[in-house]
Amino acid sequence: MAKTILVAADLRNGALRQVFYEAVYAAQTVAEDDDILCAVLIGSGITTLADEAAKAGVHKVIVIDHPELEAYRPEAYLSALVKAAGDIPPKAVIFGHTAVGRDLAPLAAARWNAGAVTDVTAMDRSSDGRLLFTRPLYAGKAFERKVFTGSVTMIVTVRPNNLPPAETDSAIEAEIVELQYDAPDLRTIVKEVIRKTSGKIDLSEAKIVVSGGRGVKSSDGFKPLEELAEVLGGAVGASRGACDAGYCDYALQIGQTGKVVTPEIYIACGISGAIQHLAGMSQSRVIIAINKDPEAPIFKVADYGIVGDLFEVVPLLKEEFSKI
Ligand code: FAD
Repeated sequence: MAKTILVAADLRNGALRQVFYEAVYAAQTVAEDDDILCAVLIGSGITTLADEAAKAGVHKVIVIDHPELEAYRPEAYLSALVKAAGDIPPKAVIFGHTAVGRDLAPLAAARWNAGAVTDVTAMDRSSDGRLLFTRPLYAGKAFERKVFTGSVTMIVTVRPNNLPPAETDSAIEAEIVELQYDAPDLRTIVKEVIRKTSGKIDLSEAKIVVSGGRGVKSSDGFKPLEELAEVLGGAVGASRGACDAGYCDYALQIGQTGKVVTPEIYIACGISGAIQHLAGMSQSRVIIAINKDPEAPIFKVADYGIVGDLFEVVPLLKEEFSKI
């Protein structure tokens, strides 16, 4: 019997995030022959995004658009998701492993009495055809592979920048369905949203991250890093050491208690490489470390290491990359 697989679309600044397409890829991997893939768009003023989502390789786009859904509220978003699923529990619900996805996924798991695998970085099949979900453990020091048993609803969150994005096809357009939002009796209201952005490019999805640690020594010390990131088309990140010292906002923090990033290139400037920092960046494709201490632990995970003063090295890199 055909079953529904929902992909909860991640939105940022009124646009679909890249992780949405990666979540669609996960949904396509989970899907069997006659399963129905549905993208679910929840928010306010989002109907214009439906056409874009309809080309993302799903069969159906469900839009639930209401002013009350402008700011994320767990109960409201869960009730919208349940409405999108209809009467029969979905086969799977896929989320981005983002602030919203991480919050909503366990609620969805509880709602459908489901199994959950979070922070998935790879998916493949075992020799007996079972779907294996790979996820990191112990701050990225180990990986485990999990399978769902029985026929429970599968709740999955996918780490941004790890799975390939689903291929979009402008020739194929999915059916778009708008559903009415039945506001539940909410126990919380959002009074104010204070946005602290991490720059023009979304840090969790950036292909290149230039990160600063306590070695940058001041907020002005971040300027050369910002300039290098600008030249490379990347985003700026930071260690908690730099955030705690007040050199930058906590929105930039990468690590165990910050953001997890998996860019193509991670440039660590004046960062010692504490295990809690590595938890947020060690899966980056290529790691470049700039540190004046040749014994700094960051060099153990770096693919390329530059022993030197970041205030000399970073401007040189910027100058050279500007020529390309
Ligand atoms: P430091 O360890 O002080 O390193 C600074 C580095 O800069 C040194 O290696 C030094 O040689 C180098 N340096 C100095 N000057 C220069 C220069 N001019 N040029 C080049 N190099 C220079 N940390 C995180 O980052 N993210 C987290 O999410 C996180 N979560 C944590 C959670 C818990 C529960 C705990 C206990 C800690 C957590 N930490 C986290 C903190 C972590 O343990 C480290 O204290 C922190 O990462 C250190 O930051 P740092 O590398 O910038 O500073």
